[in-house]
Amino acid sequence: MSNPLYDTLFGRHEGKDTPFLHLPDGQTITHAGFLGQVARYANALVQQGIAPGDRVAVQVAKSPQALALYGACVRAGAVFLPLNTAYTASELEYFIANSGAGLFVCDPGDAEALAPIAEGAGIRLATLDAVGGGSLADMAAAAPENFTTVARGRDDLAALLYTSGTTGRSKGAMLTQENLLSNAIALVSCWRFTDRDVLLHALPIFHSHGLFVATNVSLLAGGAMIFLPKFDQDTVIEQLPRATTMMGVPTFYTRLLDDERFTRALVGHVRVFISGSAPLLAETHVRFEERTGHRILERYGMTETSMNSSNPYDAERRAGTVGFALPGVEIKITDPDTGKTLPKGEIGQIELRGPNVFKGYWQMPEKTAEELRADGFFITGDLGRFDDDGYLTIVGRNKDLIISGGYNIYPKEIELILDEQPGVRESAVIGVPHPDFGESVVAVLVPDGAGGPDLDAIRADLGARLAGFKQPRRYVVQAELPRNTMGKVQKNILREEQKDSFQPAG
Ligand code: ATP
Ligand code: MG
Repeated sequence: MSNPLYDTLFGRHEGKDTPFLHLPDGQTITHAGFLGQVARYANALVQQGIAPGDRVAVQVAKSPQALALYGACVRAGAVFLPLNTAYTASELEYFIANSGAGLFVCDPGDAEALAPIAEGAGIRLATLDAVGGGSLADMAAAAPENFTTVARGRDDLAALLYTSGTTGRSKGAMLTQENLLSNAIALVSCWRFTDRDVLLHALPIFHSHGLFVATNVSLLAGGAMIFLPKFDQDTVIEQLPRATTMMGVPTFYTRLLDDERFTRALVGHVRVFISGSAPLLAETHVRFEERTGHRILERYGMTETSMNSSNPYDAERRAGTVGFALPGVEIKITDPDTGKTLPKGEIGQIELRGPNVFKGYWQMPEKTAEELRADGFFITGDLGRFDDDGYLTIVGRNKDLIISGGYNIYPKEIELILDEQPGVRESAVIGVPHPDFGESVVAVLVPDGAGGPDLDAIRADLGARLAGFKQPRRYVVQAELPRNTMGKVQKNILREEQKDSFQPAG
């Protein structure tokens, strides 16, 4: 009986006493040691009444135990359902009810507050903490280290992962064994991961990036991870000398660049730095190369598909682009109105097809039918364009497109110019309702340093470089942009805050 995801990612390392997880306190867990934990947790899940196909909802701090629970779900044939640690009780209530989870695992400190949610859903609450305590950990500690792997097929669900909720309410993406497996295989070959790699892992493991990109790649390659509970600058700088690779969101890299200890000497030995989940500013790319000699490798992915495209490992990495489709993935740019494929250079919606594309949204057949075409192409909701050499650039989200007086305005085009202005650290351009034009442009600027931006100079520069209909009609300066835990700018919040900008008074 086979379980392709377990056998390929986990089972093949059985008996290996090579390091898998390096923890910041100096402890190391070997592959064999980790797999022993996986087996124990699989037994504990069965004791909790978990059967194949059941969803196991997990909201716990990042720890080796939490990762073992992921392996245990795969081995026991259950569906792993990690939840953002920032979610509040009322948000969790929705996810637990929506997913129909069979068990809810939380941190011991949250058990009292979350018990009513489990009770309301008629399911058990188990606890797990970062040092291996809690009811589930106790049960696992007493359980045997052998477990008969539950047979699963490639088309069976392995995970239910909720999207980040950047554009609205999070949707549950159903990911199969095949989705995760094919993606890990493509990434290992694309990024040349081997068992000699030591990946600095400071990402959360409730999101596709930290779980299915970073962790699955390391598992498949049989390498090790420096497994940090969160991104903490001091610890990351302390640990980088022993890393061969690092994956992060753009804010990790801007924070490192703000630190003078982050030098070429510190990271000269690193094989590659990879960025994704949000756009990497060209300025960050350039500063990073100047400081360290490394060109960050940017890639593009999403919860529904895990990873889609990546800048090349060996060939030229182009700033501001997300490179080429992964092996086995097809990407096309289409006209949102007609669905027809557009020529190179034109902006349209990004559609993609491949073994990584999810099975659909959990209990949302209509939404699934809208976004997943019968021919297998998934409409990502992102806008993009290919350059002449086939490099893909993400232009923004379809939902962020501004239509003013009948013209399409792409916020990113304006943001790129605003970000270059003296006194501007970063910017976000949004469309808000306008009585005459339908929508009009508002630019939100974050000042860089005490002086702040000179709005007259900015207006003059944009006036010279962009058509009239693209000019921001209102500038707002504020200390920071609202971001979710993955570092994504929440434009829906900005739109809500600015929605009355052009409404007639009274
Ligand atoms: P929701 O779908 O709930 O609104 P979300 O789309 O932010 O949230 P995720 O699946 O975590 O949820 O994020 C995927 C999105 O992140 C992509 O669709 C894309 O818009 C953005 N993204 C990912 N990588 C990049 C990148 N390298 N450059 C620009 N955008 C990126
Ligand atoms: Mg999305």
